[in-house]
Amino acid sequence: SNTTAGNTGANSSTNDKPKNIILGKDGKPCRACNTLQDFLGSQPEKKRAMQPRSEKIQSECPPDVEELGRSTWTFLHSMAAYYPENPTAMEQIETAQFIRTFSKLYPCWSCAEDFRKFIAKPENAPRVSSREALSRWICGAHNEVNRKLGKQEFNCNLWKKRWLENDEC
Ligand code: FAD
Repeated sequence: SNTTAGNTGANSSTNDKPKNIILGKDGKPCRACNTLQDFLGSQPEKKRAMQPRSEKIQSECPPDVEELGRSTWTFLHSMAAYYPENPTAMEQIETAQFIRTFSKLYPCWSCAEDFRKFIAKPENAPRVSSREALSRWICGAHNEVNRKLGKQEFNCNLWKKRWLENDEC
């Protein structure tokens, strides 16, 4: 496993409690796999001191696991919300293939691994027969991650209001 509990020298500060920093395949702490706080906690003091302070500058920095996640969910839910209501056979094949390929390329490798395990279960296979089916499927997949992270589940009946049309917005 690439998860460590501070036994790699990744946690250089003696004051901080060692965190389970997720390492990348290169053996270094993985920015896209950890929260910014944990990632910075794993960096030497000198590197931490160089970090930009303002949010505006930080928004131009490489994403941590949360920013990457929010952006990706925005894309996936929007992709589903704009998916055809009656997709062709080819569109269905390509969409299911895209989701499988996505699960191999997602930059947080540990997130990707769990996502692959999720879609590998027959009952969780991507549902691509219609816009409604795909939107609900992505919602269910997102809820699986929400549960794992101890976040509140989203009511999938509200997918359209959240991701396609909302009179208040
Ligand atoms: P997010 O979970 O990013 O959600 C963004 C917005 O989507 C919410 O504000 C809400 O309006 C809406 N929303 C929430 N749930 C649903 C739903 N079920 N259906 C429709 N809309 C919804 N992080 C980890 O730390 N560990 C992981 O293993 C991990 N795995 C991930 C796997 C994938 C495939 C992706 C895309 C992300 C993963 N993440 C993981 C990131 C994590 O899911 C969150 O994106 C991140 O923690 C930021 O959370 P957030 O509270 O800002 O809201």
